[in-house]
Amino acid sequence: MRKTDCLVIGSGPGGYVAAIRLGQLGKQTTVVERDDLGGVCLNWGCIPSKALIHFASQFERLQHGAEIGLEATGLRADLKKFQAFKAGIVQKLTGGVGMLLKGNKVDVVRGQAKFTGPNTAEVAGKKETETVEFKSCIVATGAKPIEIPGFAYDGKQVIGAKGALELDEIPKRMVVIGGGVIGLELGTAFAKLGTKVTVVEALDQLLPGQDPTLVKIVEKGLKKRGVEWRLKAKAKGYKEAGGALEVQVETEKGPESIACDRILVAVGFRPITDNLDLPKAGVKANERGFLATDKACRTNVPHIYAIGDVSGPPFLAHKASKEGIVAAEAIAGHKSEKDFAIPGAIFTDPEIATVGMSEAEAEKAGIKVKVGKFAFVANGRALSMNETDGFAKVVSDATNDVLLGVQLVGPEVSNLIAEAALAIEMGASAEDLALTCHPHPTLSEAIMEAAEGVYGRSIHGVNR
Ligand code: NAD
Repeated sequence: MRKTDCLVIGSGPGGYVAAIRLGQLGKQTTVVERDDLGGVCLNWGCIPSKALIHFASQFERLQHGAEIGLEATGLRADLKKFQAFKAGIVQKLTGGVGMLLKGNKVDVVRGQAKFTGPNTAEVAGKKETETVEFKSCIVATGAKPIEIPGFAYDGKQVIGAKGALELDEIPKRMVVIGGGVIGLELGTAFAKLGTKVTVVEALDQLLPGQDPTLVKIVEKGLKKRGVEWRLKAKAKGYKEAGGALEVQVETEKGPESIACDRILVAVGFRPITDNLDLPKAGVKANERGFLATDKACRTNVPHIYAIGDVSGPPFLAHKASKEGIVAAEAIAGHKSEKDFAIPGAIFTDPEIATVGMSEAEAEKAGIKVKVGKFAFVANGRALSMNETDGFAKVVSDATNDVLLGVQLVGPEVSNLIAEAALAIEMGASAEDLALTCHPHPTLSEAIMEAAEGVYGRSIHGVNR
């Protein structure tokens, strides 16, 4: 029997961060992991996908370099070599997590954990099963891709994000089922590599839930790369025909058959709670299978916490990590709470990055808003990069000028949004953003100009 202060189940960006913080706080901690350290994010999610997205963007830039006088011949995208590069990054990061856990005196046990009581769990490893007694526990088991009828993942013809990132040849044609974040991020990357991509989305817009004015700019980027999409469409099944795959799709205009070589299914995630035997610990999942938590990440059983994807959307690594820190500190007796603005970034081309409320959301909440907008076409840095599609939008409360939200669509905006998250975190006003001296020439000036636009005093934009 192993005894530990805190048992952390899962070592993704929620679990490993929680374990490190617990180690820092002097809590003897044990992490259980059935797979590789690092979870989806490090092994086949955020990091590997950004590697592919960068690879595809570099390829596209060089291919179209002649527009700005950069001519390349014999350019070739070698996905086999890319796979080796990607494996190296994953190894560095997961190895780094192992070292950090060790450095913080965290024990790592390999195997599948299940509860046997409110303070005990059993970990089935490859060779032996071990019992662990814990004072508190953090469930950080994450989420996994949903499978839809007629499209069982087989790793060859029907793939999920993981399979797409493992391809060592560029498919000629790909049908992407689901026009959400993964579908459009990876769809864009493959389109840049020359794949003919068709997206099948069940709802009435791509990236459902995102502000349509941002999505419109992303659509422009998709069109430019020959990506097609069907909205309000349902993929019913597929068959093999003449060496290719035929995907049957039900559209508003009637049935359609789309030929392709690979089918990428990206229709959302569901929480991983199966095999945990939650009832033995008394932990209840909600009707959607997530473990509901309070502000300190506690489940209905006060010494058992849940963080990250398993506790519900948004499914974002940085949300999981921050929750991991809150849970670890709460276990150590601190008054930590989930009280942070969660920025989002979508790595399409152009990218979308948002934090706080959109104009529509604020109005729906009955708040009178003031809005400023600035287009990247008037930003010198964007012009010099030849990437001018998109804009920055700042939304503030009309009554007191408090910043409510910032929405960005444009080049590399994922790297700009943290400024807005900090401003919201500090309770800043739109004027604070406008008064902050931003370095020139940078893309960040677009945020300052949009904030100036709130008062009709954007210098390089037309004020409305
Ligand atoms: P998603 O929820 O973003 O998109 C799924 C899409 O599939 C939705 O648009 C949905 O309407 C559609 N859909 C569902 N069933 C369908 C069907 N039968 N036919 C056609 N369309 C269907 O989910 P995802 O893209 O699979 O990503 C999983 C999760 O991971 C999401 O919550 C996403 O936000 C997160 N994620 C985030 C990032 C990021 O922040 N950059 C990157 C990757 C994944």
